[in-house]
Formats: sequence, structure tokens, C-alpha cells
Amino acid sequence: MLVFISGCSLEFDSQGEVENAPTSAEVENLLKVVFLDVGQGASQLLISPSGKTMLIDAGNNDQEEHMVQYLQQYGVDRLDIVIGTHPDADHIGGLDAVIDHVEVGKVYMPKVSNNTKTFESLLRSIKNKGLKVSSAKAGIKLDWDDQVDVTMLSPILTGLDNNNMSAVVKVTYGDTSFLLTGDAESISEKEMIDSGEDLQADVLLVGHHGSKTSTSLRFLNQVNPKYAVIQVGENSYGHPKETILERLRKKNVEVYRNDLQGTVEFTSDGQNYQISKER
Ligand SMILES: [Zn+2]
Repeated sequence: MLVFISGCSLEFDSQGEVENAPTSAEVENLLKVVFLDVGQGASQLLISPSGKTMLIDAGNNDQEEHMVQYLQQYGVDRLDIVIGTHPDADHIGGLDAVIDHVEVGKVYMPKVSNNTKTFESLLRSIKNKGLKVSSAKAGIKLDWDDQVDVTMLSPILTGLDNNNMSAVVKVTYGDTSFLLTGDAESISEKEMIDSGEDLQADVLLVGHHGSKTSTSLRFLNQVNPKYAVIQVGENSYGHPKETILERLRKKNVEVYRNDLQGTVEFTSDGQNYQISKER
């Protein structure tokens, strides 16, 4: 049996059993998907088996320092791919600082703009770095790591509200898979179902922080996850909604939450998951 541990200081929960210090060969060939605790907001850091990096969203403006620290903590000084799922502040607020601080390969964002200082500041950082924005849309396969398939499943339509224009990314490594949904709501979920794409994923980032406008029952049935992560902090919206928590419970999905457990890390060897949480 392959034994592996994560490279940071997070504590393993009871599912993680660390028997011996891993050799370097054992540490390789792992995909790490980290759901960073950014309070009320979202951010996922992905590190591929060959060491490629991807950042999806970066929390709100007040998380800028935090984000830069997280990247240092994970030893990331270059992001091969940066995705801003949609131009709302709780997703792109920290991205300008990230782009200012590290080397960046490619930036993807959906074709939708926002008349805010936060969005303008992000565009300025992208421009200052000499980068161009590639448009995020369904059907794009990201060139990231030969062993990992990264496909965008949404947006399919154009001209929808910001949330429903969210870039949705499915990440598949061996038999393991993640569906990272931004703030996609039921309109986008219906489009994804109708597209006929395979939505099944073991790990689901619960859409829009557990709002009842996302995670429709049909969508949840199609994804059929084992694990769900809710990126949520203190908020006045009542996220996550009890309806959604109940829906996940009924399907026996194991739920992780940033507000309760801090940063949550999934490490996959292509077959199994090692899950660790900050608290
Ligand atoms: Zn959001």
C-alpha cells in the first residue's frame, strides 16, 4: 500500500494514517487540491503530480496578504494557471496581489466584466505583468500536467449574471476527480446537465458557498460526490443553507467546511484520497 503525507503542517484527521516518512519516490505522483481558508470567499490551490501549479480564485480584498503567505507556505513562486471564476470580490479580491507577487503562466476568466475597483485593480495587475486573459468557457481543456485532465464545463451560455457565468472546472487524476464550481447556480447547473458531459466527481466544491440557489438535487445526483467542501466564513447571507446541508446529508456526502475546519487539503495518488484539515 502506498503511504503518503502532505507537505505542510496541517494535522491529519482520523482518516489519515501516517506510518513512515515517505521516500521521495512516494511523494511524487500526487495531486494536491487545497481548499484555502479565506473566510467568506473561495480559493483553491492545485499542485500537480509533476509540480505544476494552478490557483482558482483568491478570496476577498482583505485576504491579499493571507494569499501571498499561503503561496509561500506551499512553496509556490510560480502559478502555471490562474483562474478567476467570475468577477465578484469574494473570488477575485486577492488575485491582484497574487499576480503582483508570483510568476504567472496563463490567466483564464469568463467573458464578463464588473464595474468595481476590485475588478479594475485585477485587470491592472494582469496588464502590468504583460499577461493577457484567455476566456474561460465550456469545452476548454487546460494544458497543465500530462497525467491530469482539466476540463472546463461552464460557462456554456453568454450574458448570464456573474454567478452563472462562473468558470467550472473538472479535474481528473486516475480514478479520482474534483468538480470546482465557483458560484455557479442552478441555471448553469442545468446547462451542464443538458450538455451531456460527465459531471461525476468524488469531490464537489459546493456551489456559491452553500447558497440554496446552487446544488440543485438533479445536479447533485449527477455529480454524485463522496466528499463536499463548502468554502464559507462568517457571513450575513446564512451560508451554508440548512436545505443544502440536509440535501448533502441525505446522500451521505462527507462535508468539509472552511469555517469549521480551516484549510482542507485533498491529496490523491490517482486511486485514494488523503484528507487533512487545519482544525
Ligand atoms: Zn462567492
